[in-house]
Formats: sequence, C-alpha cells, structure tokens
Amino acid sequence: MELQPMDGKTFRFYCCGPTVYGPAHIGNFRTFVLQDVLRRALETGGMPTLHVRNLTDVDDKTIRESQRAGKSLKDFTTLWTLKFHQDCAKLNCHAPHIEPSAVEHIPQQITMIQELVDKKNAYASDDGSVYFDIASFANYGKLSRLDERDLELGRTQAQRANADEYEKQSVSDFVLWKSRRPEDGENFWQSPWGEGRPGWHLECSAMIREYLGDSFDLHSGGVDLVFPHHENEIAQSKCACGGDFAHSWFHIAHLMVDGGKMSKSLCNLYTLEDLATHGWTAMEVRYVLLSGHYRKPLNFTFDSLHAAREAMTKLAKSAQQLADKSSSLAELNSVDFGPFQSAWNTLHDDLNTPGALGGLFTGMRDAAKLEGEDAAKALAALNRILRALGITLPDVSQSIVDIPAEVKTLAEERWAARTAKNWALSDVLRDQLATAGWIVKDNKDDYELIPK
Ligand code: AMP
Ligand code: ZN
Repeated sequence: MELQPMDGKTFRFYCCGPTVYGPAHIGNFRTFVLQDVLRRALETGGMPTLHVRNLTDVDDKTIRESQRAGKSLKDFTTLWTLKFHQDCAKLNCHAPHIEPSAVEHIPQQITMIQELVDKKNAYASDDGSVYFDIASFANYGKLSRLDERDLELGRTQAQRANADEYEKQSVSDFVLWKSRRPEDGENFWQSPWGEGRPGWHLECSAMIREYLGDSFDLHSGGVDLVFPHHENEIAQSKCACGGDFAHSWFHIAHLMVDGGKMSKSLCNLYTLEDLATHGWTAMEVRYVLLSGHYRKPLNFTFDSLHAAREAMTKLAKSAQQLADKSSSLAELNSVDFGPFQSAWNTLHDDLNTPGALGGLFTGMRDAAKLEGEDAAKALAALNRILRALGITLPDVSQSIVDIPAEVKTLAEERWAARTAKNWALSDVLRDQLATAGWIVKDNKDDYELIPK
C-alpha cells in the first residue's frame, strides 16, 4: 500500500513510546529503528512528516520500579528517559517531533474518561476505578481478529482487567482509571472518581487526540501491542472522539535471541551498553536490526553482528572508491537512482530493508564501472539511500588512501592467485607484501591490508 497523507501535506503518525523504567533492549530498538526508517524513507522521498511518540512514565511497572530504586517517580523516569534518548542518538534515530509524557497529560485523560462515562461506554466501580465496557463497542476485536482466535470472550462486567498488561488469553473490560491503592505511594491524582491514576491504554488515546486529532495516517508499535493495547486504544478513541482513528497500522515483528523470546529471566536480553562492552557499535546493531523484514521475527546472534561489520566495511570501501573516481560532488535531486534504483524501489516496497541492503551491494557492482560525473551521481544516490536507512558507514578513507599503488597491485595479484587456488603464488605474493610492510587478512569475499 502506498502511504499518502490524508491532509495531502504531512504524513502524521503515532508510535507507542518506551516505558521508562529501565534500559530499552535491542528488541525495543528493532521497533524504534524501523519506525525511524519509515519516517526517513518518507522524508527522503520528499514527504514531510509529523512523528509523535509518547513516554510511558506512569504505569504499574514505572511505579513499582521507582519504589524499588527508592526514587520519586519523576526522578526515576527522567533518568531512564535520558538514557533512552542517548541510546536513540547512538542508533541515529531522529527524535520525534513531539514527545508527550503521560504524566503531563493527566487532565486530557480525565476529560476523555468523563466523555466515555457520559456516553455510557465506561462505568465506575465501587472502589472508584473506571472501566471500559467492551460490550458497548461493536467493533471491539477487529484489529486483532479476536473472532477468528480461540480466546475467551468475557463480555460481562464481572470480568475486568485492572493491570496495565493483562492476561492476553482472556478478553475483558479494561481499566481507564485506577483508584488509589497503598502500593501506589504518592503517585495519584484527583479525579471525579476520587484519587487514582490513569490506565496505560488510555494514556496513548488522550495524547493522540491532543496532537493528531481523531483521525491520522498511521499508528505503530511492536506486534505485542496489537492486543490488547491497540485494540483498547481504538475502542476508547473511537467512542470518545468519533473519528476514524488510525488509517493504517505498522506493527513490527519481534527480535528474538537464539531463536527464542528475549526476556530478563532467560538472561538473553541485550542493551546497547552490553554490546558496546563486547566492542560492537550502535551502528552495527542498527544494521543487524535492518537485516530482516519487519513482518517477520528476526533472530539476533553475534554472527549477525560480525556479518554487519563485514558488510558495512565492504560498503564503505566501495563508496570510498566511488568517491575517488567522482569528478565532482553531485547533489541528487532527480528521481534517477542509477545503479541504486532497485535498492530505492525495494525500500519503498513495504519497507523491505533487507532487500534494500542487498540492493546496495548489487548497485555497487554496477557503480564500480562508472567514472567522473556518472560516479558522482551514483555516489549521491547511494548516500541518499543510506540516509533513508539511517546508516553511517565507517571511515575507511585512511586505509585506502595510505596504501601505495604498487602494494595494491601486489595485493590484487595475490587475491587473483588465491581465487584461482594457486596457493604457491599466493604465498610468494603474501611474503612480498610482508616485506613491503603489509599483512593480508582474508575475508570471505575480499581481503584487507593492514600495515605491520
Ligand atoms: P515498552 O518499553 O515495553 O513499552 O516497549 C517499547 C516498544 O518495544 C513497543 O512498541 C513494544 O512493542 C516493542 N518491543 C518489545 N519487545 C520487542 C521485541 N523483542 N522486538 C521488537 N519490538 C519489541
Ligand atoms: Zn500506545
């Protein structure tokens, strides 16, 4: 489906943001990086965007963990928000245009709940909590195709879910306002139903209404949010505001580790910091996260990081060679991507990031034949696609420039000998390179020259 802004000008989209109670893991970042690529792909294609992503800074988890840490909710969530921003910057993710926090929008949330109560879509319980009555919304379950799934449908007021993240195998009335409980500590607000705090699902609906109105272009999150979170958002927003809510949905499949779910209890949950201590850069992580299609789960392994490093170094060297052959710096304003046309088209075909990365390599093979202005144009096209992907290549200019021509020739001759399985000649040439002060390191598809 081609994405077009409903107002004909700006593509307006909402992403459910992080719950700021600890470091985001690389699974969370699969979702945030893909959302960033969606925005970049639209913008590099010339379409302005309005990107709204919230901060979940009050819910069951943030309250519980702030108490464990002995900090106020505000101090605690501010700390993790900062860390999240730092990680996003390392991953080259654009900051959203608007980043509303749930705590700063309590009045808007109370207004929305009141409207739902007035319209009889919600009811207060004896303890001062307010629940959404799912029987009052005929389309409940459409997004997640509840009717086609074997779920227990409890459309009675007897079945209610009070937790922000409830048992996914049962469907029930869900909480909009939670009455104050001792374990909430000082985290409560006044409302027409007494002291309490909003439910997580409602927070997003109220912030969406504030910044995007009742109809907008796209809504996004990880696939785990389809039910119940997004289902509940639709119910609340459509009943309260009456609009169409999101025109399209962008759900990102999960990042797995060693074929299984990432979880704290399995100790297989990686953060950028964990990976940095093993020498991996955030850009290499980004490359890995783009190496699978968003519709399919992606298996994270350390081999995939090695492959990302190799691929980016290779691309960087080819880009440097293209720059060396370019007659001038070309700006690409046309729609002609030359040898990289297929990479660009693939990226815009259902945001096929692995296809686009593959297209860069095939494009490079064709671009290698170009000289002068043609090389410059190809380089500009390559850079534009890299910008859309948010990939910054490592700087390899040093190693390429510094290698003397005769050493390069020797190395090429050796590589040719090796490819022809002429091991004797290859060894002789390796010795000659060593005498000239260079060590050869062979990779799967190419080689590197390292000064001794
Ligand atoms: P949270 O901070 O838990 O609210 O999650 C932030 C975002 O990360 C949400 O859009 C989740 O759906 C998404 N997410 C959580 N786990 C994963 C995962 N393993 N792979 C991809 N996205 C995930
Ligand atoms: Zn949300």
